[in-house]
Amino acid sequence: MKIGFLKDNESRVSLTPIILSKYDKLGYKICLESGAGSLAGYPDKAYECTKLTKNNLIKESDVIVCVDSSAIGDLNKLNNKIVITNFSGHTNIEKKINGKTILFDLSKIPRTTIAQSMDILSSMSGLSGYKSIIKAAELLPKMFPMMITAAGSIKPVKVVVLGAGVAGLQAIATAKRLGAVVEASDPREAAKEEVLSLGAKFIEVEGAVEDKDAGGYAVKQTKEYLSKQKEEVSKRLKQADVVVTTAQVLGSKSPVLISKAVVDEMRPGSVIIDLASSTGGNCELTKDNKIVIHNGVSIVGNSYLASELAHDASNLFSNNVFNFISHIFKDGKLIGDEDDILKNCKI
Ligand code: NAD
Repeated sequence: MKIGFLKDNESRVSLTPIILSKYDKLGYKICLESGAGSLAGYPDKAYECTKLTKNNLIKESDVIVCVDSSAIGDLNKLNNKIVITNFSGHTNIEKKINGKTILFDLSKIPRTTIAQSMDILSSMSGLSGYKSIIKAAELLPKMFPMMITAAGSIKPVKVVVLGAGVAGLQAIATAKRLGAVVEASDPREAAKEEVLSLGAKFIEVEGAVEDKDAGGYAVKQTKEYLSKQKEEVSKRLKQADVVVTTAQVLGSKSPVLISKAVVDEMRPGSVIIDLASSTGGNCELTKDNKIVIHNGVSIVGNSYLASELAHDASNLFSNNVFNFISHIFKDGKLIGDEDDILKNCKI
């Protein structure tokens, strides 16, 4: 079986040299699109495998892998291929497939213990959470830690994190390491303990809806909860220097937790990093992939921060893909549709 790794339209790559050796041990033939890893710090010479052009790679490979589906181009032109990537940005995919092509969407890896090592959303979210604070620190005209000097003292910055899942917890941990005072909100009871264990305060809001069968995801909250939460959070936002928002609900638009009226009352110079921007954003003023400045408040809409840590992100992504491929193929053949992980990801 020949597996081809495409060059993406961004800096990450789905195969790094260290993971290449793992495929070699399994006996798979590997090829790489020329220059695929160069933006992530992995030049062609670091890979001991065949380098091909995009067209030749697609023609010659049985399995095609990339970080994001946008790298493939026209899905219609594929025939009798297996494609493994993140299809979350693609709509109506079924209508675009020809012949016997099989697509696997890595954004659909189930949240089970066995699938954890294949979960690209978790591994990328952790990096985005870290980077959100680094980005905020760059934009903020203040320093994070408290400092007492002969010329006076500097107070630590106040950070509010909305959504304490994988990204939110990394943001909290990073902000704490930099010396900030941190508060966080999340409707999941389990998140409270994790927030407290990182030394941050948990913003208590009663009446959250939880569903143990939702596979670790939060479910849609009632209007009453969201309005109480907005009230509690808004009080903190007026005093905050940095706000990181990560709140997502599987299968629906992200909840709007920060209205324009609240941004109007925030301190000029403060920064909102909205990691939920690709699914609508948690702030009313967020624009995906843009920085909006409103009354001196910078609102960064960016769900793609993991790409800015391309070297490490590529290694984690490549490992996730390797674990997925090792799971769904046995002796070069796909395992049966009854497998939970395969069934969830197959389009
Ligand atoms: P996510 O990206 O779906 O959502 C981000 C966060 O937003 C979640 O914590 C969610 O509770 C929160 N949220 C939703 N509505 C909100 C609101 N109104 N206000 C504030 N926050 C809101 O979630 P995630 O970060 O991928 O993970 C969520 C949980 O699932 C975590 O506890 C994580 O450990 C767990 N998880 C488990 C596995 C596994 O077992 N394999 C894999 C991934 C995640």
